[in-house]
Amino acid sequence: MQIDLLIFDCDGVLINSEPIASRTLAKALQDAGATVTAEEVLVRFTGNSESAIRRICTEEYGVEDLDSVFSAWHEDIFPEFARSLEPMPGIEKLVRSLPQRKCVASNSTTERLSKSLGLLSLWHDFAPFVFSADRVARPKPAPDLFHFCTETFSADPADCVVIDDSAHGITGARAAGMRAIGFVDPADPRPGRARILEEAGAVLVATGARELGEALASLQAAQVAEA
Ligand SMILES: [Mg+2]
Repeated sequence: MQIDLLIFDCDGVLINSEPIASRTLAKALQDAGATVTAEEVLVRFTGNSESAIRRICTEEYGVEDLDSVFSAWHEDIFPEFARSLEPMPGIEKLVRSLPQRKCVASNSTTERLSKSLGLLSLWHDFAPFVFSADRVARPKPAPDLFHFCTETFSADPADCVVIDDSAHGITGARAAGMRAIGFVDPADPRPGRARILEEAGAVLVATGARELGEALASLQAAQVAEA
């Protein structure tokens, strides 16, 4: 038995988008009257789907006119992606060295994926298998998007490995019967990320692309030994 399919989260794993997303969302929220910093936005919103972000904006920050906030945010975020978005350090080289089948499973909208990952050459390492939660009924932490991946590839969940930087992604992978590696950005300002991902059910946690390569190699070796 081999690892057959690698399912990558996008934001915070393939692309270094979270600092840009947080900075621009904080500005849109501040302009709508909310008291919030970019760092608070990064801590509270990262890894959530757009529908969850909308709910948090209203319930926790008292912002009612969400359409204005989101249109102001999108007016800012997409040009900012075009200007300064980078892949996560070392991830391109790693992705290209991995022999398994691969896809992307992201809570981001289809529009945001094409205007972020779509700007980078990494897109071509995955296209057309770049899947947004738009395609399924429920975003992560539901397993729906991971089921969509296995259906598309006719893959067995037991042979899939998910790489995700949010507890939602790890939880969804477990619910879909898959193993998950938690990914931690070495530059992430949020404390305790490894522990949060382990508690969500990650079999391994990797900090940075080099450790991710090692984690995948050790899972592959364990799987070959079991077979
Ligand atoms: Mg993510």
